Amino acid sequence: MYLKYLDIHGFKSFADPVRIEFKEGITVIVGPNGCGKTNIVEAILWVLGEKALSNLRSSSSTDLIFSGSKTRSPLGMAEVSITFDNTKRIFDIDADEVKVTRKLFRDGSGEFLINGENARLKDIKRLFLDTGLGVSTYSILKQGVVEKIIHSKPEDLRVFVDEAIGVSKYQFQKKEAERNIEKSLEDLNRVEDILHEVKKQLSSMEYQARKAKKYNELVDKYKNLKINFLLRKYDELNKKLKEKNKEWKKSEEEWVSLKE
Ligand code: ATP
Ligand code: MG
Repeated sequence: MYLKYLDIHGFKSFADPVRIEFKEGITVIVGPNGCGKTNIVEAILWVLGEKALSNLRSSSSTDLIFSGSKTRSPLGMAEVSITFDNTKRIFDIDADEVKVTRKLFRDGSGEFLINGENARLKDIKRLFLDTGLGVSTYSILKQGVVEKIIHSKPEDLRVFVDEAIGVSKYQFQKKEAERNIEKSLEDLNRVEDILHEVKKQLSSMEYQARKAKKYNELVDKYKNLKINFLLRKYDELNKKLKEKNKEWKKSEEEWVSLKE
């Protein structure tokens, strides 16, 4: 991997835009105490996604923005871009250069860009996985870190070794997969709760449906009985009417015979 440029503007002591060009081979930065050498390393750490302000020797994020000097007023924004050669497609991006930019404003808001497009910190981390570059890898060693590595416990040393042999990408993916599984299990639990609730409602609805069916059957039965009853009553009344008609006819005949 080949680091091409580092552009710094408004980050810590860099009030004016500065481009540091890295040629092939080794680049050494020299300068008097307090001239900003460590600030350059911190600019690299920061643009790669460093979150811990203590690693940037700051207590608040606005400490990272140029705070002014005797001759210059403070700036409102810090911006750092790091550009890598990607002709060998080391990064999973189809472009000959990969430029990562981080910006920070005085109100505390900020943004990341990859080749000019908005990105999340997660995307930056993913981009650098297994390239050996990243805020917590062996590629950026601050003062005293070499000593720390030499004296570190085997389990701490493993983090560096994992990164070097490319395991961390899979560890990252494993963690992400585990988080997804956990979320899916939670969703599944919720679905089971809903299912349980629906089943409860279903059984109460089934009970009501059974009752409604029974009601309809009883109504039908009642109707049939009423029809039968009315038919029978009609027959009875019809019979009585016929008898009365007969009686009436008889009385009429009697009446006629009496008249004669
Ligand atoms: P040394 O050789 O002592 O390690 P160095 O070259 O690493 O020095 P740095 O520590 O990178 O120097 O730079 C420190 C300088 O950066 C200090 O002068 C400090 O005032 C300046 N500085 C840090 N933060 C800001 C800021 N937000 N605004 C302006 N200047 C800042
Ligand atoms: Mg220093």
